[in-house]
Amino acid sequence: MTKLNSEARRILAATGITVRDLIAYGGWLKEETDAAGNRHWVPETEWRGDECGCSDDRCIGFHHEEGEECGCLPATIENRAKDREAYSIWQAYRTAVEANDGRGDQDAYDAVWSRAETWVRRHYPHALTFSLDTVVKGERGISATYAPFLDGSIPSYVGATPEGDGYRQQLWTEGTDLNGHISHERARTMYRQGEENGRTG
Ligand SMILES: [Zn+2]
Ligand SMILES: [Zn+2]
Repeated sequence: MTKLNSEARRILAATGITVRDLIAYGGWLKEETDAAGNRHWVPETEWRGDECGCSDDRCIGFHHEEGEECGCLPATIENRAKDREAYSIWQAYRTAVEANDGRGDQDAYDAVWSRAETWVRRHYPHALTFSLDTVVKGERGISATYAPFLDGSIPSYVGATPEGDGYRQQLWTEGTDLNGHISHERARTMYRQGEENGRTG
């Protein structure tokens, strides 16, 4: 087990994130099977990354030099905030849609829509439009539309589907947890989409 250095600890403390939070976000899940036989990913409890706070245990000397600032830790902190906000937006969206016996709560819906707009603009500045209501390849979540590439083609990314001249990209998918971890079911869907893209692309 690696110990985080003082700079990494200072950055975390300034952001209000504990080492345990970082471990939960940084990756390293172990698979466990519960009494009912269902498999779950459970976060590990030890830090396995580098001492600078990168989840890659060979960050210093590879991603940056010894004594240089680590760019990976701030990026991880930013991504964690992004994932948590997406999770929170989605819970608020579902609550708004399901309110009043499924008739919905328009004010709550409008409020979560503007939260989502802020989130998309901040993290996906090239998006043209966004939606919480659009199902992409059978999956619900936050999606955005994009212009095609300069040659007019569209990418074959997982979660992308043609729309208009360009494409719609799933940005966050229902079932992703607070720490950005995806379910087994979602992992299988992504794998299948990747395979399909490989065949057609
Ligand atoms: Zn790194
Ligand atoms: Zn680093």
